[in-house]
Amino acid sequence: MLSEIMDRLSFIKSYHELMKKNLYTLSMLVNANRFADNRKEELCRSLLCGCYGCLVVFLANDVRFDEDGLGRCPFCGSRHILGQSSAYPLDKGFLKAMQEYHLKGGQDVV
Ligand SMILES: [Zn+2]
Repeated sequence: MLSEIMDRLSFIKSYHELMKKNLYTLSMLVNANRFADNRKEELCRSLLCGCYGCLVVFLANDVRFDEDGLGRCPFCGSRHILGQSSAYPLDKGFLKAMQEYHLKGGQDVV
């Protein structure tokens, strides 16, 4: 009985995850990655940035720039950051979908 309920809950949870992921199209995930090469001009036009390495949203002022002018996340050091000026959503759901598609090879995200 208990295990049936647990199985059901886990099914509902994974279904919910899929629903969330389906909010985003493949082309959104692929195109957003083009903005994520962290050009300084792009990031400096943004107030906020989101990292799909660690899923944190932070102020663009906090981005650390390397000598080559490319930005890094102040929390995890990843270069997988998107600026608000890219016009892509910086919410956790989108960052997570980006992370799964680009960093975890989750081609079944969409
Ligand atoms: Zn990060």
